[in-house]
Amino acid sequence: MGRRRAFDETYPTREGYTRFDQRNTSFGLRQRRRGAAIGYATEEERLKQMRRNLPGYSIVDYAFKDAAGMYEGVPGEEGTLDFGFYKWTSLGATAKPRDLPRWEGSPDEAARIVGKAARYFGAVGAGFCAIDERWIYSHDSSGRPIVFEDVEEGYTTGEKAVIPTSHRWVVALTVPMEFRENSNAPTALDVTSNMGYSRMHILAGFVAEFIRGLGYHAVPMGNDTSLSVPIAVQAGLGHVGRNGRLITWERGPLVRICKIFTDLPLPTSPQAPTGIIEFCEACEKCSKMCPSGSIPRGPRTWEPRCEANNPGALKWYCDEEACLEYWHEVKTGCSICFRVCSFTKEPGLRHDAVKWFIRNVPQLNGLWVWSDELLGYGRIGDLKGYWDEE
Ligand code: SF4
Ligand code: SF4
Repeated sequence: MGRRRAFDETYPTREGYTRFDQRNTSFGLRQRRRGAAIGYATEEERLKQMRRNLPGYSIVDYAFKDAAGMYEGVPGEEGTLDFGFYKWTSLGATAKPRDLPRWEGSPDEAARIVGKAARYFGAVGAGFCAIDERWIYSHDSSGRPIVFEDVEEGYTTGEKAVIPTSHRWVVALTVPMEFRENSNAPTALDVTSNMGYSRMHILAGFVAEFIRGLGYHAVPMGNDTSLSVPIAVQAGLGHVGRNGRLITWERGPLVRICKIFTDLPLPTSPQAPTGIIEFCEACEKCSKMCPSGSIPRGPRTWEPRCEANNPGALKWYCDEEACLEYWHEVKTGCSICFRVCSFTKEPGLRHDAVKWFIRNVPQLNGLWVWSDELLGYGRIGDLKGYWDEE
């Protein structure tokens, strides 16, 4: 339980907020400025890492990480918008008989069946809300404008990506990142980001195809097409933490987010209970531990810190460009801020009890911050022993 505030109170935006251009994300900017492809290490650098014989960077560890990311996008393709399982039209797996009317039910019934199917397909969280055009990129990573048209199905051409105006609802889903594997961050043995991206891709595609089988239309996506974090918050899955990630009550930041736009009418899920932002105000652990100094201290602000920030919202602005620079330095994705987050805990009654206090007695937040540090949570896992564990 706990109090719940309206979305606009936890994620306030300025009047005149404009849609963000995906080419201005840290990845997009780096690519444009340096012509550098996404990937944090060249083959030569990976070879050097493997030859150093350091735990977490062996050929086995890299093979594990690379295999986990096999279905992040589509091998050989740039970007994920309207590709692979993220296809905006039917993949042909489900086919409603032409002579049967489409499935009809109330928005709540629709949420129940879509949520149930999504959890079976691998989601650990499912939330629903009305589409909010503010979060849809103005342009995709290749510079195509993303527009709305009065058409039945979404489609893309070389000139534009078209979302039907009838797609007025969003399914927001989370997939898990595992505590043990994430504890290996920032080495190649932290496979949870790669695995998360592969899971997102498959999950969003499966759920979209399920919706199509009911006789409706669906536009599934990963990090392409729209921002993920505000949509996930709007759909009641959690709140934005100091580290700029979605923090959920169930799994802390250990989730990845995928989304599906649809013309299947859905309800709006209740907002997640408050308490996460208040806890982040007391805790600056990720900021202290971030090796690139990307995560700010102090309260949330309206001031962006770098060109890759999406301005116009009250939040903690992380220096995404410095963060990505560090990924290239360390030659893997980093994810230390996931590992050290005070909300990153293995499931258990003790942690559930603390979360109850965080939701209901925020005056004690300082005590939990102090005890988290005292008990040494967030340390790097046993890299040498990983492959011998049961
Ligand atoms: S991923 Fe690493 S460098 Fe980036 S914000 Fe998190 S801790 Fe800092
Ligand atoms: S480490 Fe602390 S301040 Fe950072 S996101 Fe987690 S709870 Fe918030």
